[in-house]
Amino acid sequence: MSADPRTTAPSLGRLTAPAAWHTVDLISDLHLQAAEPATFEAWRNFLASTTADAVLILGDLFEVWVGDDAARADPFLQSCALVLRQTAQRLHLAFMPGNRDFLVGPAFLSDCGVHAMRDPCLLEWGAQRILLSHGDALCLDDKAYQVFRQQVRHADWQTEFLAKPLHERLALARAMRAQSESQKHSGAVYADADPLMALNWLDAAGADRLVHGHTHQAADHPLGAGVRHVLSDWSLDHAPRRAQVLRLQREGGFTRIDMTAAPASGQG
Ligand code: MN
Repeated sequence: MSADPRTTAPSLGRLTAPAAWHTVDLISDLHLQAAEPATFEAWRNFLASTTADAVLILGDLFEVWVGDDAARADPFLQSCALVLRQTAQRLHLAFMPGNRDFLVGPAFLSDCGVHAMRDPCLLEWGAQRILLSHGDALCLDDKAYQVFRQQVRHADWQTEFLAKPLHERLALARAMRAQSESQKHSGAVYADADPLMALNWLDAAGADRLVHGHTHQAADHPLGAGVRHVLSDWSLDHAPRRAQVLRLQREGGFTRIDMTAAPASGQG
């Protein structure tokens, strides 16, 4: 029997913000896909215009990812790669895997100049210690998903999957997605972060703030003596439109910036 995830110390990544950084932007759950061009445009405009020193992407940047080789043959993903590459030339751009895009590989990231972050990752921000995560590992009530996650995050499973022909990988991805959509529509309540596990993570990291995405329920919650900030997802192609950036400033600010009001460039 495996150890209780609620009381097991996580294996932490670490990112120490250089003193020269004044602003860090956090985003997640853009679920970029060719069928949602307005979301792509908003994301591209945000990255082109932000004055932040770093943008940290906390997972589910892409709706689906079946291998870096597949991305090379996909015009939409090539457009995304170009945006990442251009952005990484002028600021620190980092990516943490989500449950949709955990197969984004080191080849793709390094090709785009994007830094890899482990989940969870401790951001040392001046005197503050902020724990960053996609958040799916914390949603323990989603038991079927946790079993699936254990399986697909295993190196052997990934090697085997990535060795399959592309059409098989795409078919499998469609089947997995259809299954998760049918669960969503079955009326089941979306699992939230397990409070005991989240607190254990905070303690293990010596942090007082947790920032995560995944649940798409943007809100700030008390967590022990600290705060849990949940990021919004981005959806500009369907109502209700939503897109938020959580901006950290050296002076201590944690500000949510609504990107749904930003003008779309070149759109009528
Ligand atoms: Mn997710």
